[in-house]
Amino acid sequence: MSEPSKLYEESGKVKVSISPWRLQTLSKEALNDLEKFWAEQARQLNWTKYWDRTLEWDPPFARWFAGGLLNASVNCLDRHLDSETRNKAAIVWEGEDGQSRTLTYFELYRQVCKFANVLKRYGVTKGDRVTIYLPMVPELAIAMLACARIGAIHSVIFSGFSSQALVDRVNDAQSKVIVTADGGIRKGKVVELKKVVDEALPSTPSIERVIVLKRAAIEITLGPNHVWWHEAMKGAPHVCIPEAVESTHPLFILYTSGTTGKPKGVMHGTGGYLTHVLSTAKWVFDFQKNDVFFCTADIGWVTGHSYVVYAPLMCGVTEVMYEGAPDFPGPDRYWAIVEKYGATILYTTPTALRMYMKYGDSIPESFDLSSVRLLGTVGEPINPEVWMWYHRVIGKERCPIVDTWWQTETGGIMLGMCTGIEMVPMKPGSATFAMPGIEAGVVDEKGDAVPLGTKGYLVIRRPWPGMLLSLWGDDEKYKATYWSRFPGTYYPGDYAMIDKDGYLWLLGRADDVLKVAGHRLGTMELESAFVAHRSIAEAAVTSRPDQVKGESIVAFIVPKEGIAKSLELRKQLLDHIRATLGAIAVPEEVYFVDKLPKTRSGKIMRRLLKAVASGGTVGDTTTLEDGAAIDEVRKAYEDLKHEVVHT
Ligand code: ATP
Ligand code: MG
Repeated sequence: MSEPSKLYEESGKVKVSISPWRLQTLSKEALNDLEKFWAEQARQLNWTKYWDRTLEWDPPFARWFAGGLLNASVNCLDRHLDSETRNKAAIVWEGEDGQSRTLTYFELYRQVCKFANVLKRYGVTKGDRVTIYLPMVPELAIAMLACARIGAIHSVIFSGFSSQALVDRVNDAQSKVIVTADGGIRKGKVVELKKVVDEALPSTPSIERVIVLKRAAIEITLGPNHVWWHEAMKGAPHVCIPEAVESTHPLFILYTSGTTGKPKGVMHGTGGYLTHVLSTAKWVFDFQKNDVFFCTADIGWVTGHSYVVYAPLMCGVTEVMYEGAPDFPGPDRYWAIVEKYGATILYTTPTALRMYMKYGDSIPESFDLSSVRLLGTVGEPINPEVWMWYHRVIGKERCPIVDTWWQTETGGIMLGMCTGIEMVPMKPGSATFAMPGIEAGVVDEKGDAVPLGTKGYLVIRRPWPGMLLSLWGDDEKYKATYWSRFPGTYYPGDYAMIDKDGYLWLLGRADDVLKVAGHRLGTMELESAFVAHRSIAEAAVTSRPDQVKGESIVAFIVPKEGIAKSLELRKQLLDHIRATLGAIAVPEEVYFVDKLPKTRSGKIMRRLLKAVASGGTVGDTTTLEDGAAIDEVRKAYEDLKHEVVHT
């Protein structure tokens, strides 16, 4: 590995010659014979029967490892039972209230078999859908793996969602069973999950059975077809013969975060998906026997599916699962957990890091974070300033940072550094390179590749094993959403650039690109410039129509703790933008707020800001985290609308 100070290139200050030869060689080989490459990766899994054909590609539908038979739970559990991993901690769970539990691989296997038998008893068979609406407790992973064991398709719904969101998703999937809990614990309060389910049930006729885990120990009423988890588990047999399913059999349905609109029911298969998440976990995180992996994502999102449940268990590592909020009771929970369990890898989001950064360095500095060897981020582009903070304050300038770009639809990581293949010099804010076997490019409006250093739309040119099978029950929407913008090419909807060294930079959502006086600016460029100012914690930019410029820039800014929202600060910020990005990027309007509207997965919902700024309607807000945030933005906007800042 490089010297700490040479670990990254700081915007041109440290010149590094970049030649990732191992990665380049591997990537070249992979793309030369894609099927051979992925077939080699797939052989790392346990198959009941090997595939007949590596890839059946009937664009835009891919059938990976067609003819192969396997079971996902066997790959996560049974495969470890004959080795020393059998008695190793699989899941170390930390409750928000400080409780903790550890499950070994064997214990997890037992619970999964028993719960699979419970599902069978209630008539769940291969292909049936099971909705899982549980808080972050080990039973969530148990329920998913139990579905996988019998070939049922799980549909996990984040436990912060309301009954309407539940109704929509249950009806879309036509689930037979809901697995829930009496309540979950979040920010010190009980979230009454069973109550939400009860509200949803009159509108979800496909549900035949509700299984309720006792977690919060609150009073609830059980209806006629409702059973307690612990009661149902009592007499369940300990052994459940796994169902070997076709490689292309759906493993799960998962709805996207809803950052850009109504969530989409993404459907993933088994063999391809598992191959992708297993390979990428090894390449990116370079899992070692003694690793303690702390992925902070809720299992309700794809990161939790792929890198809390499937990948770490397939790899046999110990993982930490945390139930609650990052800032409850104080803004230090992740650091306390890293210290308590000696986590070696931390995989989290830019939004969580910005929150922690807002409170200063002294909090993380008061914990022993010396066990950490690798840091990761996912979910949104990471602002270079935030990257530097992560590197300096959390990683003590010795831990590499893997910025991983991917989507619910891609199943697993697509872009990011492969520390398990080769360390390359990092650039703060860049996701570095595509995974081997992934062909990523950046194109213009017409779909033609743009020169290095030019901004454009990210595309994926070849099928990959983790790609979604389709959208649940809606092949037409699948084709229209991902494959029609640039025919024959997968369109993720993100704006990006490849720099002169071949490094990939994600610049924000394609829908959010600002077009000002003929120039295109990714939201990321502008927001990062704001965040680089010492007084600013977070920023979100959007635009509204402008007769002269086409669009004018509107910025919503969250100052750091203790910083006054003054006209003086506003002026400083405009000067700062003019000095860093130039006059073209100076916003017409700047509004200070305490919080930004975000999805429950923590992503900024710029489309709501755009609606406020341009007087439009806000559309689907079922995934909005905190309704008060949008009210606050609206108020700030109304109060200051006439105070246009002339630049
Ligand atoms: P919806 O599709 O419903 O609007 P969503 O896109 O937020 O929701 P996800 O699948 O959870 O749903 O998120 C994928 C998106 O997150 C990517 O398309 C990208 O915009 C963003 N993203 C994820 N990781 C990164 C990253 N490392 N850098 C930049 N952006 C990222
Ligand atoms: Mg998306």
